[in-house]
Amino acid sequence: MASEEGSQTISLKVHIDKEKNRVVMAEADGDFVDILLSFLTLPMGTIVRLINKQPQPATIGSLTTLYKEVENLEKQQLLQTQLCKSMLLHPRNPSENVCRKVKLNVDDSEPTKYYICANWKCSRRESGGLYTTFKNLKCKCGKMMDNDDIRMQIEDETARLEGDGGVFVCRTNKFMVTDDLQVDPISTATILTLLRKLELKDMSSLQETTLIIGPEEILKLLKGILFSKTPLTDVFLRKQEFTAEGLKFEMGDPLQSSLSSEGGMTLKLMMSKSMNKVLYVEAGEDLVEFLLSFLTFPLGSILQLLGGNSSLGSMDNLYKSVQHSGVTRDDSLRNLLLQPMVCRGFTCRRNPLGVKESQQPPPSLWCRSYANGRMANPYTGYLTTKKPNLKSGDRLSLLDFVNPKSPTSETAGQGGFLKGPATFIITDNLVFTPLASFWSLSFLKSMELPLDDLVFRMVKVGTVEALRLLKASLSSNSVFTDALVEFGLKISKQESKTQ
Ligand SMILES: [Zn+2]
Repeated sequence: MASEEGSQTISLKVHIDKEKNRVVMAEADGDFVDILLSFLTLPMGTIVRLINKQPQPATIGSLTTLYKEVENLEKQQLLQTQLCKSMLLHPRNPSENVCRKVKLNVDDSEPTKYYICANWKCSRRESGGLYTTFKNLKCKCGKMMDNDDIRMQIEDETARLEGDGGVFVCRTNKFMVTDDLQVDPISTATILTLLRKLELKDMSSLQETTLIIGPEEILKLLKGILFSKTPLTDVFLRKQEFTAEGLKFEMGDPLQSSLSSEGGMTLKLMMSKSMNKVLYVEAGEDLVEFLLSFLTFPLGSILQLLGGNSSLGSMDNLYKSVQHSGVTRDDSLRNLLLQPMVCRGFTCRRNPLGVKESQQPPPSLWCRSYANGRMANPYTGYLTTKKPNLKSGDRLSLLDFVNPKSPTSETAGQGGFLKGPATFIITDNLVFTPLASFWSLSFLKSMELPLDDLVFRMVKVGTVEALRLLKASLSSNSVFTDALVEFGLKISKQESKTQ
């Protein structure tokens, strides 16, 4: 995108109801719908970053706070490795190769590269060699894994997309996109249903306009879809900016979930009885890490977990369009959008929501290497997922993916982003501090609350509580209060004194 930014535009035909100053629908081709659908694969950390660097930045609940907390983390004792910081700030999208084919791809993340040990001997051993997709990891031998001369020969997963140039949908198909972002293949029936719903007598009262849309408008649209129930009108017609006030938090229906809980995390709430509000939470690194992992979740997985009840503008409608109508080219693409996963190595220690790790990057790769005559580096080679055929003089080895969160370059194990065991203080808007550097006395003084107004509560965070925390973090600045206190954790008047 960078080199030819100016030239990258698409056109979009919209039908406007002049009287009410609203967009009734857009008549879109596959290019536009592919852009919309690619949003579902973006990790939340990427979305926070994209929204934040716009001329009019906007806040996504407490996720923006969380993102800034990570930005300000020094390469200190808290993180398992220095890499953990960039993993949270620049989470990878396992569908990046597919999304790169989308006409206006807003994701500014670097494409994934493959690295092996600077010492070729390491990679030419029959087994026990390592590979990584992160720069600056140390090999077991002590050298850096910074050899990126290695070619990666992967069966092109995007090859099957070739044809009409479409990605998730057929490019030449026509779609109807309503103002609240329902996407359907266009037909007389769908148009009529819409017009009736909007109580419009006929199409003649509508004005047709063709918009030229570039990367900037797409970013505005992403923001609009997150914040508005009528994003086409708000972004293209009213040119509305969405800023900090943004989302209004509503927990809505009690969250239903069929997910099983993998043993809850325990946290201690310090609450004010008079305000019925959480002042702060004391919890282990597993809870902080779980909250941080929201940044790695792809948007689609969050919409799936919250079952159409995310309260993120009109995103739920976009998600449901993929669910209900046959807009995608095939089922595997549909699943990429409806159940997107996190890249290998990105899950956290405790994962009560069960967000799955993708098979990308693969657990191990074949390395075919061959001596290369008089060159300074005597070997070259390539990595591949399929066992290659050898010629004489070639060597074949199997390289394992290094767990990017492991300080000692282990291949196995999940491991967490944060070192443990550690206790943290987390405020209601998700600012976190190690307990050791938290001055509870001065904090309590600053709150100016009588001591008998304070009460401690122990809470177990299982799947349902975890879902509520996820939902609240998207649109609230009082995450623990909204996710836990409003749900049965009422404090009885008889209870008094801190425990
Ligand atoms: Zn090595």
